[in-house]
Amino acid sequence: MKAKTVPSVCPHDCPSACALDVEMAAPDRVARIRGADMPYTAGVICAKVARYAELVHSDQRITTPLRRTGPKGSGQFEPVSWDEALDEAAAAYRAAAERFGAESVWAYHYGGTLGRVQQTASVRLRDALGWSRQLDTICGHIGGTGWKAGVGAMSGLDPREMAEADLIVAWGCNMVATQVGAMHWVTKAVRERGAKMVVIDPYRNPTAERADMHLRLRPGTDGALACAVMNVMLAEGLADRAFLAELTDFTPEVEAHLSSRTPAWAAAVTGLTEAEIVAFARLYGSTKRAFLRLGYGFTRQRNGAAAMHAVTALPAVSGAWRHPGGGAAFSAWKNFSFLKEEDVLEVAGVRTRSFDMSRLGAVLTGNPADLQGGPPVKAMLIMGTNPAVVAPDSLAVRQGLLRDDLFLAVHEQRMTETARYADIIFPATTMLEHDDLYVSYGHTFLQVGKAVMAPVGEARSNCWLTSQLAGGQPSFVRGGGVGGGRPSADGFGAARCGRGSRQALGRLLPTVRGHAFPERLRPFRQALPLRSRLGGDG
Ligand code: SF4
Repeated sequence: MKAKTVPSVCPHDCPSACALDVEMAAPDRVARIRGADMPYTAGVICAKVARYAELVHSDQRITTPLRRTGPKGSGQFEPVSWDEALDEAAAAYRAAAERFGAESVWAYHYGGTLGRVQQTASVRLRDALGWSRQLDTICGHIGGTGWKAGVGAMSGLDPREMAEADLIVAWGCNMVATQVGAMHWVTKAVRERGAKMVVIDPYRNPTAERADMHLRLRPGTDGALACAVMNVMLAEGLADRAFLAELTDFTPEVEAHLSSRTPAWAAAVTGLTEAEIVAFARLYGSTKRAFLRLGYGFTRQRNGAAAMHAVTALPAVSGAWRHPGGGAAFSAWKNFSFLKEEDVLEVAGVRTRSFDMSRLGAVLTGNPADLQGGPPVKAMLIMGTNPAVVAPDSLAVRQGLLRDDLFLAVHEQRMTETARYADIIFPATTMLEHDDLYVSYGHTFLQVGKAVMAPVGEARSNCWLTSQLAGGQPSFVRGGGVGGGRPSADGFGAARCGRGSRQALGRLLPTVRGHAFPERLRPFRQALPLRSRLGGDG
């Protein structure tokens, strides 16, 4: 039998959001996965996802709902039916809400899938039922805050513009290892334009080994370097003063501040030499087509937001934004804000308390400041993340998850460290077993990944599960925002998954088969509200 190849999309928390070709050995058996011929990822995928078939068909998959039979955390479970598991979970959520208030329930989620419909399923459930919300602080929040302070919008350039650059600066990112698609465009610029590459990173990583210049600064000192680069550009006539005057809020006070941030000052802070700082500043300031690829190193340091803010000011001072191949990119996530407008993501107007997800341990162990005067957390639903080993202060997290008075349901593909603490485990589908829409924070393509096979065992998607929890318990639903009738089993849960989601998808799906490649979905360069607020203390 000739193998059938069907399109899909990688759902991982990774900027590439690679387009995939899935070769099927049989209707329910994946043979292998390759990169698809898509303009940005261009057939490249990482070794991990090339072996995804092993995960889908692993004998470690959880294939039925499970109920805890031993002490919490013991890993002792028994299979139960979906009806039993759903009834038990719904009863626990309802009991917590009735006794302690709806905010005593917390649906905790993160990037196990970045599919816009499945990832946000618990957000819609939580908002419809008035449960506590969460601030998604665990990854890009700090960098994003600095970017928005400097640029004004969480949008980014199409990274394919790197091919039109004469200088590419990888700042706080190891592109060779973590952005496999992006290196294609860097290589193109190097080969076809003789572009130079600079890496700014405390580590001598594989990307640095390919660079023309590596600035190996002390961790957390990026803002000082950026200020000194601006100091040199302003002092040596390399600044685009017309651009600053026309499109930024640059002021004489800011310039006076930067005049004190000399290369000698920054050398003492960063550990670089004055000569290195000046050489980079002159190279950057004299290269108008200079593309800053800013990475998640900024999100892994205490000064990350201030540093990112300072670095976003560089293309405003140099005027690089004016030129093709010039400017900066951090996250392109909000290039796709139309999804929010279509109300796919959340139920509007909900204002329950928000927990800092990075403070999970403190919340679960009852720290009053984290509870914000509200009730303790008595019941949780965890999807798409493994906080027992991911969230900070893991001892407190585990202490909290061990609480006998906390009901915990976990939706998972396999027995993770967090799932071992669960009272009920719901078996989860993989990307190949449910439908979704994929945006990317590293490129500008919208893609559709349809299910290519039936769910393994009794696995069900995030949307299906949350729809069942809501619709299966009508009295459980506040204000009728969710509910009514039996949800469908197609992964989107029909109208249950947020007002408008079905309609939004319905408008998109007929236009594509597999991948959609609308070129420059949003004309970023024109739409960007350029405001470089240089007044931070860098
Ligand atoms: S590089 Fe990233 S997006 Fe591409 S296949 Fe690997 S994990 Fe998925």
